[in-house]
Amino acid sequence: MPPLSNVQQRDIDSVFHPYTPLHKLSETGTLVIDHGKGVFIYDTQGNEYIEGMSGLWCAGLGFGDEELIDAATEQLRALPYYHLFAARGTEPAIELAEKLKELAPVPISKVFYTSSGSEANDTQVKLAWYYNNALGRPEKKKIISRQKAYHGVTIMAASLTGLGPNHKGFDLPVDGVLHAECPHFYRNGLEGETEEEFTARMANSLRALIEREGPETIAAMIAEPVMGAGGVIVPPKGYFPAIKPILDEHDIMLIDDEVINGFCRTGNWWGAETHDMVPTTMSVAKQLTSAYAPLGAVMVPDDIYQAFVDYTSRLGTFGHGFTYGGHPLGCALGVKAIEIYQKRDILSHVRALAPLFERRLTGLTEHPLVGEARFSGLVGGLELVADKATKRAFDPSHGVGAKVSSLIEKRGAILRPLGDTIAMCPPMIIKEDELNALFDRLEGALDEAEGWVE
Ligand code: PLP
Repeated sequence: MPPLSNVQQRDIDSVFHPYTPLHKLSETGTLVIDHGKGVFIYDTQGNEYIEGMSGLWCAGLGFGDEELIDAATEQLRALPYYHLFAARGTEPAIELAEKLKELAPVPISKVFYTSSGSEANDTQVKLAWYYNNALGRPEKKKIISRQKAYHGVTIMAASLTGLGPNHKGFDLPVDGVLHAECPHFYRNGLEGETEEEFTARMANSLRALIEREGPETIAAMIAEPVMGAGGVIVPPKGYFPAIKPILDEHDIMLIDDEVINGFCRTGNWWGAETHDMVPTTMSVAKQLTSAYAPLGAVMVPDDIYQAFVDYTSRLGTFGHGFTYGGHPLGCALGVKAIEIYQKRDILSHVRALAPLFERRLTGLTEHPLVGEARFSGLVGGLELVADKATKRAFDPSHGVGAKVSSLIEKRGAILRPLGDTIAMCPPMIIKEDELNALFDRLEGALDEAEGWVE
């Protein structure tokens, strides 16, 4: 490894990096990013990279968008901060809530703001508890999530997350969280089982879980339409239509985590539309502002909101809220991002590029290292395997995904290893030639890796 640059040394001397093998930092150094434009970012050495992950699945409009920058500046000048506690309001918070209601795939009555996706999902659980207390059902509190789900990192959101590294060492998950089976057909389908049979088995297994635990103890199920950080897992055919009646039968809400899926990513405004999910409530963040400022939100229907109104009339006030929830900067950027998605017709652009994305991604399944290609709109994942015929995975300690992603980085592109799945989630403004260049760099890295991966 070359010696660390001055800025890298300062970085590791002072910054506590999230989601990082901390013990390797002095060997690997860090990639310090200086600026970005369009789909490109530039490090402090001046190297250019195609940002094939939109940062963390969030900068959907890419970097340096002048309209967003102007909207932010204008808002900071007018009102850099105000809150929504104690019946205060701001124009950007109102306008954004109106827009979200208009766009929602199911009738939504109110929008509760947070600063992040984790806070949105944490809020969802508190709301589900509050709702059942309001209805006099204090025992109906457990939340079903799924293995490999990702819902964030606060104590409750990390508990909902179904990934080992988010639990191990943190004394998580907390009680009252149940993890249903992961509906990943390639990995969890049985020998000779069809996709439809797999879906039916997943639904039966969910029903069995509910009956085992007692439906009267379960408040809600939370699900991402396409599971993102768990490996870009696209639901098997008919999955949500198969599980929804089971939830309805037992009066269990379906919380739709749209934090990655939302805002055109899967080729519709919402992942729920692409994957036939009919949610009760929704969580949004990330592309809500195209990541130009932190913001999340929970969207609730009227019957649930009315139960809160009734309950607070008995308790005195609704005792939940974040200092920065509905920050005017975030809300102004949310309003502007949605306006841009609409006026630049980002949805049509995603739909137009999706066949190329699919073709290039599925083309890579010919590669000896690739077991499965998964995609929905402009989000995808490539699962690397040691043996294609048997689907045998690499030994996780070999860190194959991480090694391949560092080869991709050397070729001037950023993609994210999720274990041995290489995730792709380029800014939705990406042009055809840029998307082809991103795939060429990925392909080159896979060819190089083939020589030494064991
Ligand atoms: N939900 C999903 C589906 C996510 O992918 C993420 C983050 O990646 C979160 C929630 C948590 O969002 P945040 O990191 O903003 O807390």
